[in-house]
Amino acid sequence: MSAAKKHDVSLYQFFAPGGVLSRTHPAYEFRRGQLQMAQSVEQALEEKRHLIVEAGTGTGKTLAYLVPVIRSGKRVIISTGTKNLQEQLFHKDIPFLEQALFPDGTGRLNVCYMKGRNNYLCRKKLYDLTGQPVLSGLEEIEHYRAIAAWEKTTQTGDRAELAELPEASALWHKIDARSDACIGQKCSSWDKCFITEMHRRAMESDIIIVNHHLFFADLSIKQQSEYAPDAGILPEVGAVIFDEAHELEDVAGSYFGVSVSNGRVEELCRDVEASLQRNHMLSVAISSAVKSLRERSMFFFALLPQGEGRFSFENRRDFLEENGEEFMSLQQSLTRLGSELENLPSKPEEVFNFARRAQELQVQFGFLMESEDHNTVFWIERRRGSRDKFNVYLQATPIDVAPILKSCLFDQLECAVLTSATLAVGGGFEYMRRRLGLEHTRESVLPSHFDYENQALLYVPPDLPDPRTPQFAAKAADRIRRLLEITRGRAFVLFTSYAQMNDVYQRLLGELDFPMLLQGDAPKNALLEEFRLTPHAVLFATSSFWQGVDVQGEQLSCVIIDRLPFAVPSDPVVAARVKSIDADGGNAFFDYQVPAAVITLKQGFGRLIRSLHDRGLLVLLDNRILKKQYGRIFVESLPNYSKTTELGAVEAWFDVSREEESPL
Ligand code: SF4
Repeated sequence: MSAAKKHDVSLYQFFAPGGVLSRTHPAYEFRRGQLQMAQSVEQALEEKRHLIVEAGTGTGKTLAYLVPVIRSGKRVIISTGTKNLQEQLFHKDIPFLEQALFPDGTGRLNVCYMKGRNNYLCRKKLYDLTGQPVLSGLEEIEHYRAIAAWEKTTQTGDRAELAELPEASALWHKIDARSDACIGQKCSSWDKCFITEMHRRAMESDIIIVNHHLFFADLSIKQQSEYAPDAGILPEVGAVIFDEAHELEDVAGSYFGVSVSNGRVEELCRDVEASLQRNHMLSVAISSAVKSLRERSMFFFALLPQGEGRFSFENRRDFLEENGEEFMSLQQSLTRLGSELENLPSKPEEVFNFARRAQELQVQFGFLMESEDHNTVFWIERRRGSRDKFNVYLQATPIDVAPILKSCLFDQLECAVLTSATLAVGGGFEYMRRRLGLEHTRESVLPSHFDYENQALLYVPPDLPDPRTPQFAAKAADRIRRLLEITRGRAFVLFTSYAQMNDVYQRLLGELDFPMLLQGDAPKNALLEEFRLTPHAVLFATSSFWQGVDVQGEQLSCVIIDRLPFAVPSDPVVAARVKSIDADGGNAFFDYQVPAAVITLKQGFGRLIRSLHDRGLLVLLDNRILKKQYGRIFVESLPNYSKTTELGAVEAWFDVSREEESPL
C-alpha cells in the first residue's frame, strides 16, 4: 500500500479546530461526534473488533471512517446502500482527502469503485451480436451503434459513461456482463474483459467501494463454492465498513435466498437458441427440448396459486399432491435439455454454461418446491410486465439471516464497522445485533451535530381518528391542507401505502394553492429536481422517498408522515419472521415490528433537517404514538425535537400567529 501508509497526522490533528480539515475544507466546523467516530473506527481497526455506530445526519461520517481507514494501511471494502453515497465517496470525499493529506502530490490512494456486473458491458455478447445482429426496432439499432462505437474507446465498460442510453434499454439487458452467461477464463475476450479488469483493479486497490447488493452477491457466491480461491470478485480485506447499514438484513436476505422465475427459464431458452443458431448447431433434438421446456414452464407457472404482489406459498405440499406430475415434467424437461446440450459434439464453451444453468434451475426448483427447511419462508411474487404478461417468481428467503451472517461474515472478518443515521432503538443496538447476528461488538451512539430542539418541531394531532379506520383519509387530508397553508407548501407528504397516497392526493387536488407533485408521474430523480426548482411545491410519495433523499434549505420545510410505518403484516417474509419469533418464545411485536418501524420513522423524519441552517416542521398524523404504550419507544428513539399537539404552536413556529405552545 504505497500512498496509504500511516502518516504523522493524528486524528485529533486532522479533525480538531486549527487542524488539517479546518485548513482545507471550505465549510469546516468542528464536529465532536466526527472526531469521536474516527477514534472509535481507528480503535476497532487496531483491535480487530466489530463496531456499530449511529451517526446522525451532519456528523460527517464518511470522513470519520475514511481517515482511520487510510491511516490503518489495511485493504478495506466500503459498502453502501445507495449509488449516491458511492459516488460521493469516490468523486468527492476521496479526492478531497488525497489533496488534504498529500498536498504535495506525493501520495495517491489506490481506490476502485465497483458496481454490479450488469452495469458493465460483456464484450463477448456484443461481438456475438455483431456477427448476427438480432435487433428489434430502430431504437435498438441506434443503441447498438452507440454501444459498439463506445466499446472501442471505453476503459471501464461502465454503462454510466453512456448518458444517452436509456435506463430501461432492452438491448443493454442482452449484452451486459451478468454472471449467468459468463464463461470466465475460457472466454476468448477474457483478457480484455471489463470484469476481469475490474477484478484486477480491486486486487491492487487499498479501498474498494461497492454497494450492499454487490457485496452480498459476492459473499453468497463464495459461500456456495465453499470459499474456492477464485470464487467471487472481491478480494480478501482487513475490514469492511458498511455505511447505511440499516439495510443489511433485507439485502442479505435476498442474496442468501433462492429465486426462480418464468423469465429466467425463458432467458435460458432464448440464449440456447441464439447461441446454437449462431454456431449452426441447432439440431432438431435440441429445438424440441427447448420447445418442451418452454411449454412445461408456462404450464407450471400458470398452475401456481393466483394473486398479484407478494404472497406466501405455505401449501406447497398440497400443491404438489395435485400438480406433482406437472412439476416432474418441468424437472424432466430441464434434465433433457441439459443432457442434449452435453451430448453435443465439439461444442463451444458457452454450451457447457447453458447445461450448468439448466441443472442449477432444476436444483433450485427442487429446493423451492420440496425443501422442509425451517429457517426458510417460501413465497410467490407475481408482477405485471410488459404487454400484460406476468412475471412470476418463486422465492425462498431465510427467516432469520443472523446465523448465516454470523458464520459467513462476522466470524470470518477481522473487523466490520456498521454505521448509519438510524441504527439505534431506544438508544441501544440490541435490535440490530439480534437481527444481524453481531456479537462482541463495540457500540457508540454519537451526539448529534444539529440543534434539533430549535431546528425542528414535531406536531402530532391528538384528535384525528386511528389511521386504520375508513374515516382517517378525509380527516387527514383536511389537516394536511391546513398544515400546508401554514408552511406555504414546501413539503414532503410521505405515505406508507400507494392506496393512501392516491386517496389523499385526489382529495387535495384543486384544493391547494401550491404545485402538487405525485410519485409515479416522473422518475424519482426528475421529481426531486422539479421539487427543488418549483417554489412552494408539495410532493406526495411513498417508501422510496423515505430514505436517501437530500433537499437542503427552505424549499423543504415540512415532512408529513401519515402513519407509523409498521411493515405490512401480511407480507410473507414479515409474517414468517413474526411467527418464528413468537414460536421461539419472543414477542415479535416488541422485538421486531416496533423496532423496525422505529428505524423507518427515523429515516423518514431524517429528510427534514439536512444542515445546521435547516428549520422546519415534522408531522405524524398517527396519534397512536401518544395513545399506545409502545408509542413511547418511538418518542424515545427520535432526536430531541420540540414537540406539540397544538396547531397554534405550529403557526407560532412559522410565525403565522402568536399562540402559546403546548408541549406533547
Ligand atoms: S469473461 Fe464473461 S463477462 Fe467477460 S467478456 Fe467473457 S463472457 Fe463476457
